[in-house]
Amino acid sequence: MSASYALFGYPVQHSWSPFIHGMFAKETGQDLVYRLHETPPERFRNDVLEFFRDGGSGINVTLPHKRAAADLVNELTPRAQQADAVNTVVQRDEKLIGDNTDGTGLLADLTKNLGLRWKSPRILLLGAGGAARGALGSLLELAPHLLVIANRTPGRALGLAHEFADLGPVTGCAFSQLGHQRFDLIVNATSASLHGEAPLIPIDVVDSMTTCYDMAYGVGDTAFVTWAKRLGAGRAEQGWGMLVEQAAEAFDLWRGIKPDTAPVLKALRQRAAMGARSPS
Ligand code: NAP
Repeated sequence: MSASYALFGYPVQHSWSPFIHGMFAKETGQDLVYRLHETPPERFRNDVLEFFRDGGSGINVTLPHKRAAADLVNELTPRAQQADAVNTVVQRDEKLIGDNTDGTGLLADLTKNLGLRWKSPRILLLGAGGAARGALGSLLELAPHLLVIANRTPGRALGLAHEFADLGPVTGCAFSQLGHQRFDLIVNATSASLHGEAPLIPIDVVDSMTTCYDMAYGVGDTAFVTWAKRLGAGRAEQGWGMLVEQAAEAFDLWRGIKPDTAPVLKALRQRAAMGARSPS
């Protein structure tokens, strides 16, 4: 029988994950099925436990369940513990292990796929939700000169900065407090693009040397990418590569084999260019 994997989220019907893992499985010769489970928060715990009781091998977790997944598992990997959020679960020796592959996926896209390198970069992280938490540890691996977290609700940015203060030069603030300082890398980890909006931040954070990276992705430019291009940012990218790289990391955890991400990323970009909003 094929090994069974699934994505739990709410909503999930437009997810690209079955397409991505289907391509990975074909490429690596792995016998598996990957299904979508649209699960509201009140059913999350029961549905996940039932999935594993029924012989499921592993799951991905997306909005809004990443914190709930961290509470549900028996053990957390160090990076999931650091993020206090889980996007991948695997069953080993009757135990559920929770991992977080978002930060590693982001870093792989920035450095491997996009070929970006900095020396002591000035980094601005927009947002203080689950994706920002997952990315922070990995962004600190870039040995930044400073890393500013700015959020619509400033208290959440300050809280997150406080939690990670031991790991590097991290501060938190409100969007309006960002004026008159430029950054080498700006990562948009807000969900504003999902509503067709760019975060309301001062324009002088961007110059021609700035890379703007939107974790969100879609058909055509996201609102943040459009904003960055209009301001003349050096690079403006969206999160397709992060999506594929975090999935490859999850696949490796489940199957013990790291798939080649390049053909999958190429296929996704082609489909997005043709206007496909989801694989179905
Ligand atoms: P989340 O936990 O719900 O956090 C949302 C964040 O966005 C919060 O900081 C929130 O601020 C902020 N926000 C929402 N609407 C905003 C607006 N109109 N203007 C400014 N800020 C706004 O969501 P998440 O899980 O962190 O996901 C964030 C984004 O990352 C989503 O677009 C998601 O698709 C993307 N993502 C991509 C990947 C990938 O593989 N490419 C992986 C993970 C996530 P408040 O605190 O003020 O509410």
